[in-house]
Amino acid sequence: MSTSAYNAFHSAQKQFDQAAEFLELDQATRDLLRTPMREFHFSIPIRMDNGEMKIFKGFRVQHNDARGPSKGGIRFHPLETIDLVRALAMWVTWKTAVVDIPLGGSKGGIVCDPHNLSLFEQEQLCRGWVRQIVKNVGPHLDVPAPDIMSNAQHMLWMLDEYEVLMGIKAPGFITGKPISMGGSLGRKEATGYGVIITLREALKELNIDADKTRACIQGFGNVGQHAFELYNQIGGMVIGVASWSQQDACSYTYCKKEGIDYQELKSITDRFGGIDKEKALALNYTVLPGEDWIAQEADILIPAAIENQIGTENVDRIHPNIKIIAEGANGPTTPEAADILDAKGLFTIPDFLASSGGVTCSYFEQVQSNMNYYWTKDEVLSKLDVKMTSAYVAVSDFALKYKIPMRQAAYLIAVDRVAQASKDRGWV
Ligand code: NAD
Repeated sequence: MSTSAYNAFHSAQKQFDQAAEFLELDQATRDLLRTPMREFHFSIPIRMDNGEMKIFKGFRVQHNDARGPSKGGIRFHPLETIDLVRALAMWVTWKTAVVDIPLGGSKGGIVCDPHNLSLFEQEQLCRGWVRQIVKNVGPHLDVPAPDIMSNAQHMLWMLDEYEVLMGIKAPGFITGKPISMGGSLGRKEATGYGVIITLREALKELNIDADKTRACIQGFGNVGQHAFELYNQIGGMVIGVASWSQQDACSYTYCKKEGIDYQELKSITDRFGGIDKEKALALNYTVLPGEDWIAQEADILIPAAIENQIGTENVDRIHPNIKIIAEGANGPTTPEAADILDAKGLFTIPDFLASSGGVTCSYFEQVQSNMNYYWTKDEVLSKLDVKMTSAYVAVSDFALKYKIPMRQAAYLIAVDRVAQASKDRGWV
């Protein structure tokens, strides 16, 4: 990630400043919330497989923990920068606040590329990260989770190191563990299902029958697949799905006007969410260029692939029939395109509300691990429904009350909750 042109932290601060202005926050609250409360920078010495010592750079940024222990992923990336980690930590604070779970926001990282490290070196790195930060993280302080290029095995090594150093068992120290070692059932489904729970509520609000709607989804990975599945269950019909083709290094949109069968599409999809174009053609899908996903005649668009997919260059291609955009991906709409959607009055469920099912379920994992008692998948998913529904209702009520778009309402609710918690604690 280059810091030259786009600086994520400056952009996060700008967003915050706008919210602070609207909420008329006092200067001390602004000063507190526009920068992280704590930052740790450290070196992690690792003996590599060839016997050489190598020093890796590690970070942990705790943006705010007024509402509860902070929570946030650990990123493994060769181009990691402290400003990106700061921005991401701030965004977690807002995300946990909007869905109203009693957590703050943090983020961590190690500047490394796991592709170039043996499993043993990765294990040393995970254990080394914990050794450097052990006194400043913990189940009641700051709870890490997987993020870009880190996975369940990395979390388990980190948990093991933490427990050895502390001389206790503390499964709630970290989330994203394998199911057999304290991970939560339902985590796989949580983000995609969360998108559809918020969509279901939006349909109710707009008096639209779910079973008369059609949707086009960009992305058929973890989020896209589970969104498709639950959307079908509430009666909706998916008529288009876009995915990336590794083979052709481009994306395609796969359409069936009469509706796509979920199991059929899954049967021709690889584990990375890539759909096999030849098999799709044999099954009578219409195969269009990837960018055409946005122009399909449907009622709902679900961007669930990557960031920056709805921009000023294609926002006008959105079909006039589209009534709702439910943002499953992180940052799928550029700020400029979001302004255009708002000006058109196109109802958008913003990413940090619609895609917050994942962090909500991570919180459930934390709760279960702290109790050392585990819920069934049905229990987890019904709790997810309750949380996502009430988060949706709070944002929608706020948007209606102040006559503002859902995205702005979500942001204002989140900032207001964190500002209030900081004030109640006597920090500002
Ligand atoms: P994934 O890697 O499992 O799936 C990504 C899908 O997008 C694949 O089907 C891929 O083919 C497709 N894709 C990639 N580039 C594309 C392009 N240019 N055009 C069309 N399709 C493309 O990822 P995921 O876990 O499903 O995450 C999707 C998005 O949701 C990301 O923005 C992620 O940050 C966000 N998100 C994920 C979670 C989670 O729990 N997995 C939680 C919150 C937000």
